[in-house]
Amino acid sequence: MDKIFRKPTNPVQIGNVIIGGEAPVVIQSMTNTKTVDSDATLDQINQLYEAGCELVRLAIPDQESVKAFARIVQRSPVPLIADIHFDARLAHQAMENGAAKIRVNPGNLGGRKTLLELARRAGHLNLPIRIGVNAGSLEKNILKKHRGATAAALVESALDYLEALEEIDFTNVLISLKASDVYTTISAYRLMSEKKTYPLHLGVTGAGPYESGVIKGAVGIGALLAEGIGDTLRVSLTASPVEEVRVARQIVQALGLRRFVPELISCPTCGRCEIDLVSLAVEVEEILKDYRLPIKVAVMGCAVNGPGEAREADLGISAGKKQGILFSHGKVIRTVEHTNLLDALIEELDLLAAKSD
Ligand code: SF4
Repeated sequence: MDKIFRKPTNPVQIGNVIIGGEAPVVIQSMTNTKTVDSDATLDQINQLYEAGCELVRLAIPDQESVKAFARIVQRSPVPLIADIHFDARLAHQAMENGAAKIRVNPGNLGGRKTLLELARRAGHLNLPIRIGVNAGSLEKNILKKHRGATAAALVESALDYLEALEEIDFTNVLISLKASDVYTTISAYRLMSEKKTYPLHLGVTGAGPYESGVIKGAVGIGALLAEGIGDTLRVSLTASPVEEVRVARQIVQALGLRRFVPELISCPTCGRCEIDLVSLAVEVEEILKDYRLPIKVAVMGCAVNGPGEAREADLGISAGKKQGILFSHGKVIRTVEHTNLLDALIEELDLLAAKSD
């Protein structure tokens, strides 16, 4: 199987998680609870962790949120990132109160001088900063020069800040370049990856509700990851952040960059289909979430063509006219009643899981 060659970047440590270098692509998300409601926020962080999120970002809009953040950090199962806009004092306080990283957009934080003050504090505490340049808050002179929020404009803005940080020897940095336009986002990250080796946080901002957000995220983030660009990602959805994590994992797994659960293959169905395959595939997808096996599992609509069409599957089920079959790499291993197909599949999965323990 062909593999993606990831462009080398500097490793950056965020709590116990490494982004960049040789580390696998890291999945992250952001809570949408009010940070001051520490119980609700912690509850959501735990849900994100259960779904496979490795880093969680929290909005810190005011002093009360910093206080809540300090309490939440003590009980969080994953390192937490403080997301700060407009008020740099909050970033300083978050760093002193357990943030594993801060994310700032220098364009709305007071510019270069404020950023350098933050970097000095971060350097003292050995904390990384993500420079999150956003198409919506680019500097006026850059917008004028590039005639809008183009990829080159996003990159120039980020480079200005990066070079200022490099002048004071602060390189504990990650970068994001976000636009809601997918192709602008792709072009910006491509351009940046040619210029610097800081780890890149991928995302398409303002991507929309579930369906359009998933598509924009998969196209934008997926295109970059397929080119070996990107060290961590957040899929932005106007939906539950837990969904963001599920989608992010699927994007990463679809490209073979990491394997979280068995990969499901299912046929598109046609006139030969002998079973309600749509429901069956959904049920199998749920079942597979409980297994950590690095295998491919197929759910196919007919026994005549199914095993052959899913020859790469380590394990598969398909329906015959009277009975169903279990197969492995195109060969039938068992025949069962249609009503027992799922139970038979679970038995085989359990056997494989027991062998891999
Ligand atoms: S496996 Fe069978 S039912 Fe599914 S698409 Fe192929 S021929 Fe049609």
